[in-house]
Amino acid sequence: MTTRTPLMAGNWKMNLNHLEAIAHVQKLAFALSDKDYDAVEVAVLPPFTDLRAVQTLVEGDKLRIKYGAQDLSQHDSGAYTGEISGAMLAKLKCTYVVIGHSERRQYHGEDDALVNAKVKAAFRHGLTPILCVGEELHVREAGEHVAHTLSQVEGGLKDIPAEQAETLVIAYEPVWAIGTGKVCGADDAQEVCSGIRGKIAELYSQDVADKVRIQYGGSVKSGNVAEIMARPDIDGALVGGASLDADEFVKIVRYRE
Ligand code: PEP
Repeated sequence: MTTRTPLMAGNWKMNLNHLEAIAHVQKLAFALSDKDYDAVEVAVLPPFTDLRAVQTLVEGDKLRIKYGAQDLSQHDSGAYTGEISGAMLAKLKCTYVVIGHSERRQYHGEDDALVNAKVKAAFRHGLTPILCVGEELHVREAGEHVAHTLSQVEGGLKDIPAEQAETLVIAYEPVWAIGTGKVCGADDAQEVCSGIRGKIAELYSQDVADKVRIQYGGSVKSGNVAEIMARPDIDGALVGGASLDADEFVKIVRYRE
């Protein structure tokens, strides 16, 4: 039986400049101990402009906290003004990169083909994608949420080999629960996360499916995280708003206590 280390990742979105980032990571580092890091992997996902400052702090103080970016270009270099490549993120020793967040899909028109190209770019540079999937409210109301989410998983993973797929993190984030305070019930989240694991087994094998970590995201807070984490196919949380409060994020990391 595969044991999957839970991943608690804070998606800061477009918040905290590089000075605020240093203060925030210092607060987390002060609060978290080896006991926390032994139980749960902890990651922060700051804006691009903070990454160098976070890297310097993490390396200088030998922190066990991981970090990554919120997006990357599908291209490796060249005339793509405003873009950031996987090579640049790898040079900053990022572990993770969020791909296909619903805010990118919604405001930047990212579709499954582009998301798939970005997943490939991440793997080319040794980064671990946190592939975000999830339905909008009208899709859930129509009862199509599982099919919709699984089709995003399939689209995002097109032509990704099993050796890469097994290292992946998938974040199930129902769009209607992001930043709204509306949490998807733990049983509803489990329904979709178990469907995602089943889809990975179908696309690859049960062995790969058992290794992939599946997070839930959408208004996760210290008050609801334990119930969500109790579900068998949920291996962590992608936390937006609540990750900007260091004390609250530490409580989320310590969901077992
Ligand atoms: C997110 O941005 O991925 C997210 C889940 O946000 P929030 O926790 O604020 O709903």
